[in-house]
Amino acid sequence: MNRVVLLGTKGGPAIRAGGAMPTSSLLELDGRRVVIDCGLGVSKGLVEAGMDLKTLDLIFITHLHSDHILELGPLIHTAWTTGLKTPVTVYGPPGIEAYWAGFMASVSYDISIRVYDEGRTPLDEIVTVQAYDEGLVMDGPIKVQALRVPHPPIKDCFALRFDGSKSVTFSGDTAYFPPLASFAQGSDLLVHEALLPAGVETIIAKTGLGDKLRNHLYASHTKAADVGRIAHAAGVGRLALNHLVPADDPTIGPQDWLSQVAEAWDGPVDVGVDGLEIVL
Ligand SMILES: [Zn+2]
Ligand SMILES: [Zn+2]
Repeated sequence: MNRVVLLGTKGGPAIRAGGAMPTSSLLELDGRRVVIDCGLGVSKGLVEAGMDLKTLDLIFITHLHSDHILELGPLIHTAWTTGLKTPVTVYGPPGIEAYWAGFMASVSYDISIRVYDEGRTPLDEIVTVQAYDEGLVMDGPIKVQALRVPHPPIKDCFALRFDGSKSVTFSGDTAYFPPLASFAQGSDLLVHEALLPAGVETIIAKTGLGDKLRNHLYASHTKAADVGRIAHAAGVGRLALNHLVPADDPTIGPQDWLSQVAEAWDGPVDVGVDGLEIVL
């Protein structure tokens, strides 16, 4: 079955009781399983979505913000302790190698013990970490392309498009960026980040952060109404709102998101919740 499962759907690294987890997704396309972003909760999310972690083999990271990368190392390590022996490839922006080296250093004691005590394959022998840039990232039965998107102050943040028998585009974290519509043109599914201005002031009050956070949110993310504009211009088959800001405000419900998106988009749309499966 070709599907996308949104494992974690909140934007930003904080977690709260009863709330959604930071960003990660699973794409199953033509028999290949791909993990996109590894925010906190990705390992449990994959297991709950029915994936045997021993089969982990392909991961893409859109950028190095912690809500997209904090559980990358722990996911691979947990897959390894679950019995993973086969190669894993991680594609990430420049800097991904340093993350991986730092993670491996932090668990070197545990890994060396498990290699001699439990007879496991050394983890560094099965993991390849590769930095990518804009353009064609992976060719073959599934083609993967990257588009640099504006997410200041981060320079290396990418939207990713996967083409097989179906096409799926993930926006990454991005400010409103009309070229993304050309990049996503004709995708069966567009998974796009979204911000709801009505919820921003509550977040500012909750975190105790002021103008700097407010400025970051508006300069680096896409308002829900503009997400609808991208979906419309791209002519996608379906839209899913992801990386929701806010994701855990009890005064905001799906209808608040949908009414904004509806300014420009009248096609099928899902408001992301953790564990949501979208069949392609
Ligand atoms: Zn993010
Ligand atoms: Zn980000």
